[in-house]
Amino acid sequence: MDIMKKISILADAAKYDVSCSSSGSRRNNTPGGLGNGAYSGICHSWAADGRCISLLKILMTNHCIYNCEYCINRRSNDIERTFLSPEEIVEITIQFYRRNYIEGLFLSSGIIKSPDYTTELLIKTAKILRKRENFNGYIHMKGIPGTDPALIYELGSYVDRMSVNMELPSEQALKLLAPQKTKAAIIKPMQFIHTKLVQHNAEKHLMKYKTSFIPAGQTTQMIVGASNENDRHILKLSESLYKKVSLKRIYYSAYVPVMQGKNLPTLAQPPLLRENRLYQADWLLRYYHFSADEILTEQNPNFDLQLDPKTNWALRNWNIFPLEINTVPYELLLRIPGIGVRSALRIRSARRSSSLSYEELKNIGIVWKRARHFITCRGKYYGAGFQDPMLIREILISKKRQSLFEQFSLFEGQV
Ligand code: SF4
Repeated sequence: MDIMKKISILADAAKYDVSCSSSGSRRNNTPGGLGNGAYSGICHSWAADGRCISLLKILMTNHCIYNCEYCINRRSNDIERTFLSPEEIVEITIQFYRRNYIEGLFLSSGIIKSPDYTTELLIKTAKILRKRENFNGYIHMKGIPGTDPALIYELGSYVDRMSVNMELPSEQALKLLAPQKTKAAIIKPMQFIHTKLVQHNAEKHLMKYKTSFIPAGQTTQMIVGASNENDRHILKLSESLYKKVSLKRIYYSAYVPVMQGKNLPTLAQPPLLRENRLYQADWLLRYYHFSADEILTEQNPNFDLQLDPKTNWALRNWNIFPLEINTVPYELLLRIPGIGVRSALRIRSARRSSSLSYEELKNIGIVWKRARHFITCRGKYYGAGFQDPMLIREILISKKRQSLFEQFSLFEGQV
């Protein structure tokens, strides 16, 4: 089979893995080397369906000894199979890099023979790229559960980022849809990487390590909608992973029904809005100091698909609003719908010198249409009325009523 045909098969086979966004690596080029792994200039473009496309994103092989029911590469699926050797992958990567097609490599793989054997081939690829070709571009590879920790460690010394995919959010779902995988086997390499990262970071100044260890950290991917866990379950799992294994990011992938299977759900379309809500909630966990229990409760374990999780939280906690923008503590400022981290920082800095006026606030970069229902500015309320959170909800979810409200708000100075 010619190389272009192999690339076409293996790139197509890799497209359902979304855990390939690159960021966080700072390695510069070295004399005589090729490329760099700095923040900028690395794959930040996305396909229309939200998948990252600017890395060379490919599988080493679509052969697999496992039989995950949802996966197009599963053992029992009758598809054309192929394999790229480490030398072939290196050649393609270098050629594509030189032609400016890509800025790095995302390499995953089906499992051939065993996790160890497959990882050894990944190591060989990364080693040739780094050592022989002096390739300093971004490399993201897959950590395969069940691999000997020593091999994970070796691979980690060549790559910028590694992802060990959670795939499914519960043990039951794994049993049903990916019977060769277990939660414990997936968590184990994540914990190992976490321990080594902590150790490496603590010792790097003392030891002056010549090699790095996964400088852009580890990530994981979870498929949403292939099994029946609710959103709260998924979010609590994410929260726990961020805390326990210091993940850099979790990628949520709406289940795309590409396969038939007796245990697979029948979906009219991938749950993309649910995926989007998970990303929003994930940001609340990482940057806004929310806990999963605050975002979703036992009584309401699933996202409101009409309203974002932060606005939902605010409406459920209506008793603390409206908050005075000039005095509210920073932690609460972050919780006001329509105010992001950057605008919260700007507000905090601006109000140090003098209290913010309505005009100044509007120019600071907040989403005024949303925020105004939840704040006062110099004691004045500009929202639709703080007696009735249901009214605010209706306004926020209804574009028609929103525009109607815009007309009424001509009188807002009198509210
Ligand atoms: S291990 Fe499972 S998900 Fe991964 S390639 Fe093989 S069948 Fe697909």
